[in-house]
Amino acid sequence: MSTTTFTRKTLGLETVEPAVTPPPAPARETSFAKKTKLGSVKSRKRDIPEGLWTKCPKCETLVFDKELDANLKVCAKCQHHFPIGARERIHSLVETCTFEEMDADMVSVDILKFKGVASYTSKLESYKKSTGLKDAVVTGIGHIGEHRAALGVMDFSFLGGSMGSVVGEKLTRLVEKATEKELPLIIISTSGGARMYEGMFSLMQMAKTCGALAYHARAKLPYISVLTHPTTAGVMASYASVGDLILAEPKAMIGFAGPRVIKDTTQAELPPGFQTAEFLLDRGLVDSIVCRTEMKPRLISYLGHMMCGKRAQQTSDRRV
Ligand SMILES: [Zn+2]
Repeated sequence: MSTTTFTRKTLGLETVEPAVTPPPAPARETSFAKKTKLGSVKSRKRDIPEGLWTKCPKCETLVFDKELDANLKVCAKCQHHFPIGARERIHSLVETCTFEEMDADMVSVDILKFKGVASYTSKLESYKKSTGLKDAVVTGIGHIGEHRAALGVMDFSFLGGSMGSVVGEKLTRLVEKATEKELPLIIISTSGGARMYEGMFSLMQMAKTCGALAYHARAKLPYISVLTHPTTAGVMASYASVGDLILAEPKAMIGFAGPRVIKDTTQAELPPGFQTAEFLLDRGLVDSIVCRTEMKPRLISYLGHMMCGKRAQQTSDRRV
């Protein structure tokens, strides 16, 4: 009995099948149909879902995105440092739930009514949407290891990490807070320089940030500047280059004007490796090159050394 019902079912399926299969086509069209079949096999091979793999631009290895994220966006094979967002970087450095962000809602205004292909306001809006940030720097106070520190992290994905009045103001307030609370300061820079949409207001930030840093230094508090790819122009010419300790990520491009501009102006052949972190380490501007995966333990160690005098002074002050 049961076998009869089974055959009935298959028969039923068979009756459905002809309706699904396409009607017979002329010979020419069949050959086309064969070609599309080949195409479909190819696309199946390429069917690796997008956004799962990233090709390393240096060693050309396909890196699994999850592995890349776990390794702080550093290629495990060749140590190439991919760009990393400000929030991801903070997450990699600061102890969980200890980061208190400062001035999170500060936003730029189009004070000069800048006229370009797109208005400055619309540019700001689109970058806010694409990055989830309000401007090119995130500042706050958090714990790195056992050390409470003021931390400012720039993000290149927001208008090329350019420094406008918001970046300058947020960093200045951070430095002032660090001075007031007697905290060490760490600024991780990545920038194309001053933001042209704000003209002179951007350039003013160079002096303003350095002024605040001078007060921080006068209070004998350490400032560690970390230069990441790329740190150039107005940012390099101000707060990024005045750290008590200047660290850099491997192969980061660091400089003021671009190499082509310098070459055209000086009419001189530039030495190999010009404007890289390694080149500047040889010439004494950079104190140490630190791989991103090593950054946290190294910062903890440096802060331990740099703050031990301050801590001893604080305890003796309390005794008095
Ligand atoms: Zn690689």
